[in-house]
Amino acid sequence: IQSKLPGIGTTIFSVMSKLAAEHNAINLSQGFPDYPCDPKLTELVSKAMKDGFNQYAPMPGNPFLKETIAEKVEKLYRVKYNPDTEITITAGGTQAIFTALAAIINPGDEVIIFEPAYDCYAPTIKLLGGQVKTYELAPPNYDIDWDMVKKLFTSNTRMIILNSPQNPTGSILSEEDMKLLIKLVSGTDILILSDEVYEHLVYDEQKHTSVMLFPELKKRSFVIASFGKLLHATGWKLGYCLAPEPLTKEFRKVHQFNVFSVNSPMQQAIADYIKEPGNYSGIATFFEKKRDFFRGLLAESRFELLPCKGSYFQCASYSKISDEKDTDFSIRLIKEFGVATIPVSAFYQKATDHKIIRFCFAKENLTLESAAKKLKNV
Ligand code: PMP
Ligand code: GLN
Repeated sequence: IQSKLPGIGTTIFSVMSKLAAEHNAINLSQGFPDYPCDPKLTELVSKAMKDGFNQYAPMPGNPFLKETIAEKVEKLYRVKYNPDTEITITAGGTQAIFTALAAIINPGDEVIIFEPAYDCYAPTIKLLGGQVKTYELAPPNYDIDWDMVKKLFTSNTRMIILNSPQNPTGSILSEEDMKLLIKLVSGTDILILSDEVYEHLVYDEQKHTSVMLFPELKKRSFVIASFGKLLHATGWKLGYCLAPEPLTKEFRKVHQFNVFSVNSPMQQAIADYIKEPGNYSGIATFFEKKRDFFRGLLAESRFELLPCKGSYFQCASYSKISDEKDTDFSIRLIKEFGVATIPVSAFYQKATDHKIIRFCFAKENLTLESAAKKLKNV
């Protein structure tokens, strides 16, 4: 069979989690919590099931959930999205990203991404016949020089994909970044896909700089969010897409034939749960403490820690430890030291060798301690 995605294998997350299980290693690779989500939340799901939310939800999503999201977004960012025409509930951030790209990208359209980049962007663009234009971010700060981004623009540039806080680097976009971006896109019809699944995970008293805060960006953006991160429940695979009406209209044309609608009892339960902001308002502090705890533990190792301003990922250089390629080093870490991580080269399309690996710190402190004990021997 002629592959539509030649050169693409199984995602690094599946590969590393499988290896971790096979070798009984502590899994700091794939990003997911190893502790339970709030029992209140699971009780709300069984309540929703008992209350009869067991058939198809409306195609764009449960109305109560969409309204609750509109309220949440208005409270956080002082912007309005119409729940009827501008909010769609999806099967996680991944499906929202796929659907937004499928709704917009035609063969030959160019999409700018920033690498290292979350791994689904480039394959999805290629699957749709689009061209990936890559801006390479440089460690350790992974800052963006917007004049250089402008050099990637052509008459075929259709979209820019932003991701702040960023997976895997933990970097965040500033207000200054947004202002420079506005200068680049004003007067063009370039669209933005803003992957903000880690919007709540911003540390050191910084605020999340959403594209929603800037009308010039908001009007051209699909904003992607994931309940997996907000609720410590990545397996629920629920998220949403915010976009102005004309964009949402196109989004839903694809969404209705892609999944039609998503898990009904969970949508109802999530609405009940996030209606009460106290149920999630402590999340940044919760993860900031974990970040600090984990960085403190690793300070006694030979790994060199990169900055982590947001997300639940900590990157580290092992260049003082080994010359190996990051994939080889990660595999050896699993087999010889019992800790699974993600080699950051997996987030680039071309071969790279920065000798950086990514740890997920959304774990019990005991897990982080056990992992750090092993990492100190490396
Ligand atoms: N974007 C980024 C940057 C992610 O890290 C992830 C996964 N954690 C997603 C999108 C996908 O989110 P979901 O699991 O809700 O599909
Ligand atoms: N986003 C998660 C990570 O970066 C994993 C998602 C997945 O496994 N597809 O680790």
